[in-house]
Amino acid sequence: MSTKSLKVIPSLCRWLALKVLSELTTSKCCFCLSAPVVATTISGTWRLPHRLCPACFNKLRQPILTGYLLVKEKPVSFFCAGAYEGAFQTLIHKIKYQGEAALCFDLAYVLAELTGDFLKPEINYLLLPIPLHPKRRQERGYNQCELLAKALCRLKGKAALTYKPLLLRAKDTPPQHSLTRQERIANVKSAFALKKGAANTIQDRHVILLDDVLTSGATAHEAAALLLSAGAREVIVLTLARTVKKWNGPSEI
Ligand SMILES: [Zn+2]
Repeated sequence: MSTKSLKVIPSLCRWLALKVLSELTTSKCCFCLSAPVVATTISGTWRLPHRLCPACFNKLRQPILTGYLLVKEKPVSFFCAGAYEGAFQTLIHKIKYQGEAALCFDLAYVLAELTGDFLKPEINYLLLPIPLHPKRRQERGYNQCELLAKALCRLKGKAALTYKPLLLRAKDTPPQHSLTRQERIANVKSAFALKKGAANTIQDRHVILLDDVLTSGATAHEAAALLLSAGAREVIVLTLARTVKKWNGPSEI
């Protein structure tokens, strides 16, 4: 490399840094569209910035909704970043029905903050997204839970989480949102299967099931039961939001 080309490198770096800085300071929040977006850290490490302003990020981060499902007579803890209303409802709706897949990247930061509350540092968890039936996935072009799970693994690092899409959707079930609780339970009965050889990976592991919204808990219950039957030591359910209007009862659901 010539001396002349070496001199170009610092100015190129400066130009790139200014370009990134200018992009960050002029970008708008992906929810409120007003406040400027700032770079962020996870556990003290600088990460690529998400597009939520501090006010929206803090709004989405709280309150955490936790509780447990009883699955095969074992308590399966769930952690939801917030209630399925307001900002969460709008953002999840955009992801699922308006093709705004990039929002999964932004919301993965909310989950990364949330998992800091319950992940044990000495454990490497398997992170399994709730699958879509291939037909539904093809219609949408992506599975939002897979995108969220991949982004979350990148943020938390390989020591904390291992992305493993080991679940399959065996049945093309109708959307849950229009059904009653009993219909939801019947709807997802035997809806999931494990990929070939998955039981060996799951055996004795701590597993996190990732879904976008927890409503009646029927989907999470069915998937968790399958994982516990396959030998998982522990199953935790993690979602962005939990519906609160219909199911705002005791923490056991
Ligand atoms: Zn905002």
